[in-house]
Amino acid sequence: MSNIFETLESEVRTYSRSWPVVFTHASGATQTDENGREYLDFFSGAGALNYGHNNPVLTAPLLEYLASGAVVHSLDMMTPAKREFLETFQELILKPRHLDYKVMFPGPTGTNTVEAALKLARKVTGRQHILSFTNAFHGMTLGALSVTGNSLKRKGAGIPLTNSSKIPYDDYFDGTTADFMWLERILDDSGSGVDKPAAVIVETVQGEGGLRAARTEWLRSLSALLKRHEILLIVDDVQAGCGRTGTFFSFEEAGIEPDIVCVSKSISGYGLPMALTLFHPELDVWEPGEHNGTFRGNNPAFVTATAALRAYWADDKFEKQLAGTIATLHTGLEKIAGSVEGAGVRGRGLLAGVIFKDLEIASKVAAEAFANGLLVETSGPEDEVVKIMPPLNVTDEQLARGLEILAAAVRTAVESSTLAHA
Ligand SMILES: *Cc1c(COP(=O)(O)O)cnc(C)c1O
Repeated sequence: MSNIFETLESEVRTYSRSWPVVFTHASGATQTDENGREYLDFFSGAGALNYGHNNPVLTAPLLEYLASGAVVHSLDMMTPAKREFLETFQELILKPRHLDYKVMFPGPTGTNTVEAALKLARKVTGRQHILSFTNAFHGMTLGALSVTGNSLKRKGAGIPLTNSSKIPYDDYFDGTTADFMWLERILDDSGSGVDKPAAVIVETVQGEGGLRAARTEWLRSLSALLKRHEILLIVDDVQAGCGRTGTFFSFEEAGIEPDIVCVSKSISGYGLPMALTLFHPELDVWEPGEHNGTFRGNNPAFVTATAALRAYWADDKFEKQLAGTIATLHTGLEKIAGSVEGAGVRGRGLLAGVIFKDLEIASKVAAEAFANGLLVETSGPEDEVVKIMPPLNVTDEQLARGLEILAAAVRTAVESSTLAHA
């Protein structure tokens, strides 16, 4: 069947290949296609839809804002929408967590905030080298790619990606080798030949790279080590942030305070482009205009972001309910993993998945789930993990139904691969 997506749109497209239907409507944890078929969406816009599709709590103020004739596009000019966002972010997110950060609007995407973070770290320290982790994903522009692990994505750069080195993420050697030894040694050894880095950039859960989750004690050791050596710690919370792991920032449980934090995906709450770069005030050495972006003042996104913070983060009700949802998901995933030899649960919070010994199973599970009305994607360098990311406000009924479809898809995929290998 030839269609405009195949004839005109570039070969670079991906999701439209895994899910070859035309989606017309969406609501909460569901999407509907042109034929009227409904899908449970446990993909959530790769983490951009933590509060679900078209959440009415956010649609109402957005429509009101657009109808009022208020400013939509403002670069970094001052608007009431931006003022209200900044005030709300300070009041509901930074203050209660005792976080002392300045807020920068770097441009509307995740890779924009990562680029800003890397630039700032280099400018502040006067050093060029950045350390990042095996299987990290930080975005697709050159700076962000230089700290990304995936070889296919790196190759797309077409030029050498320099000024960064990769170091082993938590549990890279399956827990038998202390992953930290190398970093500690090279920083202390003037003969190591590794340039002192400006910063280390880390995801607390590797959303794209296979859903490994760093242990809290590992994050604390990393933070302490970098402090001792006056190296900046950047946490890329683009995917794991905004409640995904159970708290607003994914590093809260570890009790660390990164020097720089990258936030995007679900900060607008509505799937509207928006990003923040947060950093300690003493790092705010930017010259006016030294970094910018035409769409850094996306006022409709400020409006929905403010509404989302007020609706979900004004007290601890949402976080408590989220803890229950997380527990239910992990119980369900453990049960599914327990039914397949060599399978295991990966991830943290509602950023979780199942890894199979047979690397081909996860893709088969995702395809089978789609056939049965559930959208889930895969994660990891070999697509070896099936990734389960429902919206944070998924209902108990939807979660149970999604887990049922997933369990059945796993059974079918495992059976077919056993037959194929027999
Ligand atoms: C998605 C993602 C990015 C890149 O965000 P874009 O909006 O796609 O540029 C960066 N870091 C992490 C951890 C991500 O998940």
